[in-house]
Amino acid sequence: MTSDTNLRHTDDAALAPDTAWQTEIRAGVRHVRDLASLPLSPGERAAAQAAASNHKVRIPKTYLDLIDWNDPADPIRAQVIPSPDELAEQDGELDDPIADHEFSPVPRLTHRHADRVLLFPTYQCAVYCRFCFRKESLTSIGRGYTREALEPALAYIADHPEIREVILTGGDPLSLPDKALAEIRARIEAIAHVRLLRIHTRVPVALPSRITSGLVTALRGRLMVTVVTHFNHPREITDATEQACRMLRQAGFVLLNQSVLLKGVNDTVEVLEELCRELMYRLGVKPYYLHHGDLARGMAHRRTTIAQGQALAGALRARLSGICNPVYVLDLPEGGGKVPIGPCYVEGREGESWRLRGLDGEVRGYREVVGE
Ligand code: SF4
Repeated sequence: MTSDTNLRHTDDAALAPDTAWQTEIRAGVRHVRDLASLPLSPGERAAAQAAASNHKVRIPKTYLDLIDWNDPADPIRAQVIPSPDELAEQDGELDDPIADHEFSPVPRLTHRHADRVLLFPTYQCAVYCRFCFRKESLTSIGRGYTREALEPALAYIADHPEIREVILTGGDPLSLPDKALAEIRARIEAIAHVRLLRIHTRVPVALPSRITSGLVTALRGRLMVTVVTHFNHPREITDATEQACRMLRQAGFVLLNQSVLLKGVNDTVEVLEELCRELMYRLGVKPYYLHHGDLARGMAHRRTTIAQGQALAGALRARLSGICNPVYVLDLPEGGGKVPIGPCYVEGREGESWRLRGLDGEVRGYREVVGE
């Protein structure tokens, strides 16, 4: 991947005028040294500080306040407080699990599938998640937004008429100030062949106060906008996240959610069922993908087996309506793309006769009847 080291970069949050969401960031954990102020035992604190060397630390106050400090296995804590297990890297783990860099023809852009590109306006986030599969880029590149840094990527999109969707990811695009978002949106929508702007973000989960009328105005324009949120546990769904999602929905944006299956966080059918129901029924966010854990370094302690994930996906399929059901997927190494790896309901086939397992576990026959 080409670098953009010659450009001047600042922390994205520093670009924004003083706002409620900036105050939330400042009042939370921003540096490894801030871990000292958390109610951890001396042993836990030392372990968290040591583990933080592998990935940045940032936790807005709102998200920090969701943690139950009396529970060492708290699922919110598990997502953001560094664990010594992160230092135990395993053979087969990767810096770049889905080959973003290999498919990057210009800085800040990945073009893996013909009709869409990933665009990285920033490599900074409002919250740094321990399980992040892009943590290596967030650490080694780590730069924020500048107009100049995005020029080669925008020129590339303009030169490739097959590109229909631009996916803003990162880093978290919604950690950028409104002015930067409006500028990026306007530059993309000036490219006539782009139809859809997709935004992948943890902000509605971890920093819901960032979702403001100003942000909505910055994103609204010619393009269809889809916001893909990243809720992993039902305890992340609060009055504040509900209000944030309502604002995005009322703006006319399509809301989808992708979760990562994480051992000790959401690897039970009860937790996933509640998460999916609350996403759809309370937030109006369609559960889209349930990701099997990527091969990010130091994350073996949070990965389930695929067989465990299939059993969970099968149980969800039986309990939830189609609209509440996410697709269980694996993002393949070497840029193979996301493939569904949920349970298979086809038990066998002889010519036009199929044997299929129903949601009640019974195997039934189905004979194809097709006209000439
Ligand atoms: S917000 Fe997204 S990109 Fe940032 S650390 Fe979390 S998962 Fe990674």
